[in-house]
Amino acid sequence: MSTVDNQGKSDVKIGVYICHCGVNIAHTVDVFEAAEFAKKLPHVTLTKEYKFMCSDPGQEIIAADVSSGRVNRVVVASCSPLMHEATFRRAVAKGGGNPFMFQMANIREHVSWVTADKKEATEKAKALIAAAVERVALHEPLEMTQVPVNPNVLVVGGGIAGIHAALTAADAGKKVYLVEREPTIGGHMAKFDKTFPTLDCSACILTPKMSAVRAHPNITLWTYSEVVEVDGFVGNFKVKVKRKPRYVDENLCVGCSECIEACIFKKGKFPDEFNQGLSKRKPVYIPFPQATPLVAVIDPETCVELKTGKCKKPCADACEPNAIDFTQTDTIEEIDVGAIILGTGFKTFDAARIFRYGYGRYPNVMTSLEVERMVNAAGPTSGEVQLRDGSQPKSVGIIHCVGSRDNKFNKYCSRVCCMYSLKLAHLLKERTGATIYNFYIDMRTPGKGYEEFYDRLLNEKVHFIRGRVAEVTDWALEPAEENKLVIRAEDTLVGAVRRVPVDMVVLSVGMEAHDDADDVGRMFNISCTKEGWFLERHPKLAPVSTFTDGVFLAGACQGPKDIPDTVAQAGAAAAEALALIDQGHVELEPNTAFVREELCSGCKTCLSLCPYSAIGFNAEKKVAEVNGAICKGCGTCVAACPSGALQQNLFTDEQIFREIKGVVSYV
Ligand SMILES: Cc1cc2nc3c(=O)[nH]c(=O)nc-3n(C[C@H](O)[C@H](O)[C@H](O)COP(=O)(O)OP(=O)(O)OC[C@H]3O[C@@H](n4cnc5c(N)ncnc54)[C@H](O)[C@@H]3O)c2cc1C
Repeated sequence: MSTVDNQGKSDVKIGVYICHCGVNIAHTVDVFEAAEFAKKLPHVTLTKEYKFMCSDPGQEIIAADVSSGRVNRVVVASCSPLMHEATFRRAVAKGGGNPFMFQMANIREHVSWVTADKKEATEKAKALIAAAVERVALHEPLEMTQVPVNPNVLVVGGGIAGIHAALTAADAGKKVYLVEREPTIGGHMAKFDKTFPTLDCSACILTPKMSAVRAHPNITLWTYSEVVEVDGFVGNFKVKVKRKPRYVDENLCVGCSECIEACIFKKGKFPDEFNQGLSKRKPVYIPFPQATPLVAVIDPETCVELKTGKCKKPCADACEPNAIDFTQTDTIEEIDVGAIILGTGFKTFDAARIFRYGYGRYPNVMTSLEVERMVNAAGPTSGEVQLRDGSQPKSVGIIHCVGSRDNKFNKYCSRVCCMYSLKLAHLLKERTGATIYNFYIDMRTPGKGYEEFYDRLLNEKVHFIRGRVAEVTDWALEPAEENKLVIRAEDTLVGAVRRVPVDMVVLSVGMEAHDDADDVGRMFNISCTKEGWFLERHPKLAPVSTFTDGVFLAGACQGPKDIPDTVAQAGAAAAEALALIDQGHVELEPNTAFVREELCSGCKTCLSLCPYSAIGFNAEKKVAEVNGAICKGCGTCVAACPSGALQQNLFTDEQIFREIKGVVSYV
């Protein structure tokens, strides 16, 4: 470490600390030259460079200099503020200074990692250091504010992620609201017969948890409902939930199905969503026998009474508890919660998008989710594997990576398809004795017991052909291909193109983000990746947190994952929510907007622009007023204020202009 003193210029005493970050910065930026440069900047009384400023000794250096009075403002030139701003603010506070008399210059992500030329990188680093020095000279001492935390938790999405998170928080004594948009909780897992790699019965492990949710005294379950508005901030969210009409009173319905029996449609007529359209349902239905809540729902799109008002309503006559209620309309529930956990899951890739695989053209080309329903004992064929003509397949081809690892659709790996393809291969062979062919690009089986499961399938004499499938066709080139689907694929291990005739093709469709993920993300003020997955705060260090404090992620809404990882993440999200709530209060950053009353003309432009409704109007003084607890410091009002009355702590006009001056004036 080297030190350069330049004391006694004025009562503004700035210390500049330049981090090597091992070689991350020092390899590209000449930190010694940057330190020499910094000592000549106005008000700089001391510059130091050190291997790791964020280490304990590094922090101690800052704290000691502040407490000795040699510096009263600090600039650290190191990494992103996202990583270590809090660390260095704490170091300043430890030395007895105000933590906001501090500014960070990011010379790693903004310089050394993105600039190859050392001279250029050093010049750039100097410019950023000069900017930070200029701006920190104008910093004012600021204080964090403390606000109490509401102990209630909102969980959005009732798949296995939402269920597990809700139960964990509720078992810890918190009041939980679980909001699910479908008529039942359960998500995708409720559709499976068995789960890999243990092949345990999905319903047997899921439905006890679904019943526990329903019975839990701390959980309010709102199915067929959606969050429509979120206001407030960490620890104090105000949420509006729209409850769609089921046209069946949830408190009265006993799930006896008498209404379904009595419906004027004697047989099911409309595609049953839960069975992926493989069976038909009536307008009044219960999604599946273990649906939670076990309450009928009437579909307004297909119910004659709701569409025309001209039905004799035998369903209502048959209902002994008088639960049928055609007068129901949307209702809005308003709740206050301290933390929110999003567990909205995924949708499967639409197989029809890959024309050459024939989905939608050849009836016996099916998706994996359809086959999941078919092999399910409670499914549309009571567990019988059938071709569309009702016969059993003698040969089945399973095509992996449909919509995943494909530059035309999704580049990413969906992580579960190899394993669920192996599961389906096992189940199809077990149920039909058919010859099974797996067409794969790479076999991806990382996970506890997963590789062993793959081994088991190899011993079950399932065939594996390595290569991407070119097409599925019904053109027979030889007698063995007559009345068959032919899978044409390159076998990269043999180095030949193969034609494999089969009776059934299963498309292992990948996982995709929901179509409305962007809208949902916007409502909760969180971001999405370009593929639509909700963005975590940090992929390694904060995988269930988001950039909005108090909003956490669980399960497949954050990215493709299997059930074990989903449950682990849901537990982690619940633990983070509990840790937040149990603090009893949160500290809010002071970088909020404020009004210079003498400049405010009372034009109210800012009121309608504020995305967080943080600005009110003081009718007596005729000026705008900012609620610092709600303001998120986005700066929208500051930019829009025609008279310059709105300013933002840590981002005043003067501070920003001085920062710009720093960038352009010294290098
Ligand atoms: C064919 C197939 C087979 C699989 N087999 C296995 C297996 O054997 N073993 C295994 O470990 N994994 C398996 N998986 C992966 C497994 O499905 C996921 O890991 C798991 O379902 C993720 O759970 P989740 O709760 O995050 O999402 P989901 O199961 O998708 O649940 C999300 C829930 O949120 C609801 N929701 C969505 N948006 C909203 C909203 N805006 N408001 C309110 N509610 C909303 C949905 O209706 C749904 O109920 C398989 C996946 C597929 C596609």
